Amino acid sequence: MTADLTRPVLPLRPELAGLEPYGAPQLDVPYLLNVNENPYAPSPQVIASIADAVTRAAAGLNRYPDRDFPALRADLAAYLLAESGVAVAPEQVWAANGSNEIMLHVLQAFGGPGRTALSFAPTYSMYPEYARDTSTAWVAGRREDDFSLDAGVARAAIAEHHPSVVLLASPNNPTGTALARETVLAVLDAAAQVPGGCVVVVDEAYGEFRRRGTPSALELLADHPHLAVSRTMSKAFGLAGARVGYLATAPAFVDALRVVRLPYHLSAVTQAVARAALAHAPELMAQVGALRDERDALVEWLRAHGLQVADSDANFVLFGTFTDRRAVWQGLLDRGVLIREVGPQGWLRVSVGTPQETAAFKDALVEVAGL
Ligand code: PMP
Repeated sequence: MTADLTRPVLPLRPELAGLEPYGAPQLDVPYLLNVNENPYAPSPQVIASIADAVTRAAAGLNRYPDRDFPALRADLAAYLLAESGVAVAPEQVWAANGSNEIMLHVLQAFGGPGRTALSFAPTYSMYPEYARDTSTAWVAGRREDDFSLDAGVARAAIAEHHPSVVLLASPNNPTGTALARETVLAVLDAAAQVPGGCVVVVDEAYGEFRRRGTPSALELLADHPHLAVSRTMSKAFGLAGARVGYLATAPAFVDALRVVRLPYHLSAVTQAVARAALAHAPELMAQVGALRDERDALVEWLRAHGLQVADSDANFVLFGTFTDRRAVWQGLLDRGVLIREVGPQGWLRVSVGTPQETAAFKDALVEVAGL
């Protein structure tokens, strides 16, 4: 009997049965405003530096890369000092292929069977997937109607569920909401009381877009060894294609992640690209200010047109509400503008683009939603 190759019998984990891979549609349309990318491509100078660095790395590709990449960790530490004024040592920094992989390392080290990861919804939809993939139980507490996190609610959820990992996105995706320092402190305090310990990851993937006066959790690292702050080069740096995420935390926390990472997980090419880009940090980040202004203007415009808009510290805006958000999403797509149908019922999320892209989005929305 020949095997039926179209329907093989595979010992798939039961919890994965019928599931689709995560990911927003990747469509070929003129205006891509759906995955919170930076709309500005690297400049010719940055491209030349990266190409040069890759050429040099290529000459050594017969060898495995440096497993612990101390030079990249030192460069990331220097960048964090420049960006937020917080000094961390290279031993306090860890990097991986995007902050997605960073978070997986955290769950591999601190989650697992019999343990629980906790976050507060609506939030980044990959969090439950990291938990699932590491056989960690997943609990989502609730955010308030304005998408903020109430410190009392957070404390109660931690006391009830005794998680070993708490994931807090700040600014949050898909809402754009940054957490108040008191809230993060309350979570850290409640986590410190969990028997057996609990780590708290503040996911600052969009941290560089925070508004003036919004704090970074990096400032809390010195006093909280169970805190990690994760960042990425995908957003503010405009390097989503390079796949570089990183976190800062206590050295013992990093040592735990080093145990679970695959050997040589960060390729020599990735390390070279990241270091070349970091040498251009001020230039790469030059557009962050412009994107912040563009975001604030977009929030105002949407509100002036009668829509509800969540306050945003990120490079995207959650707006609504629509009785048929799918129809609005489709109407925009029909006009060449791809945004994201995500978040609570009735809301839509749009990434902040160039002024031309934002103008195309506004024109299309006026037509589709009859604003
Ligand atoms: N955290 C949040 C909150 C995100 O929105 C994203 C990307 N959409 C990530 C982490 C992962 O980004 P990356 O893997 O590109 O660093």
